[in-house]
Amino acid sequence: MIELRNITLTFPDGESRITAVDDVTLVGRNGTVTGITGPSGSGKSSILAVAATLIRPDQGAVLIGDGDDIVDATRLTRAEATELRRDRIGIVFQQSNLLPALTAREQLEVMAHLGSRNPRSRAKEIGARIDGLLAAVGLAEHAEKRPHQLSGGQRQRVAIARALVHEPEVLLVDEPTSALDQERGAEIMQLIARLTHERATATLLVTHDLIHRDALDDLVTVTDGRISVHPQAATAVR
Ligand code: ADP
Ligand code: MG
Repeated sequence: MIELRNITLTFPDGESRITAVDDVTLVGRNGTVTGITGPSGSGKSSILAVAATLIRPDQGAVLIGDGDDIVDATRLTRAEATELRRDRIGIVFQQSNLLPALTAREQLEVMAHLGSRNPRSRAKEIGARIDGLLAAVGLAEHAEKRPHQLSGGQRQRVAIARALVHEPEVLLVDEPTSALDQERGAEIMQLIARLTHERATATLLVTHDLIHRDALDDLVTVTDGRISVHPQAATAVR
């Protein structure tokens, strides 16, 4: 689970400050995709960056985990936050941000070995996990290809698989379809929904348009940094 509780985030703006996120509270439950929509500049990416522990908010809590294993990410040191991000949060950005020289499999391997204390003894387990992930995103046949040999949709699939290497509890996705045509976009959204349900991740997904709304379990709308529409679970989209 991820819960953002009363998050406020400001940025310096000349003499004063601009409020990008204004007292936002939202919950992403395990096994559900919570959509965050709203106009450009409304604060969607800022909310995701706070959830990702990449930016510390001025106020509020970022609670990650379940039961008696809940951490407030805003109270961690920088090093602890980095560890939390690596182990428990998967992030997929608008652009797939793949390394041009590496094959699809190597993109995942690099991620798998990041921070791993004893990579050699875990190599077999990691190899099997990576094979499973590449198959899960439909890239088993393309594992040895480099980014320039893959389509935009396939690159986004690699990025999604890479985000899942550490089996995160929380998956954060920012506008994953913006560089894709509608059909490819729909496939990526369905893939994210399926993986979320199968792997029980608490997924927050930013999208500025709602053509792919059927892939979302819940939806919040952000306007001027505030949540303006927040359906309860009972009125969830599906
Ligand atoms: P969205 O993702 O909904 O388009 P953003 O979260 O990117 O919106 O931006 C929300 C507001 O915060 C905008 O007014 C934007 O200009 C401002 N903002 C975002 N990031 C920064 C930053 N690093 N420095 C200053 N202002 C920022
Ligand atoms: Mg954005």
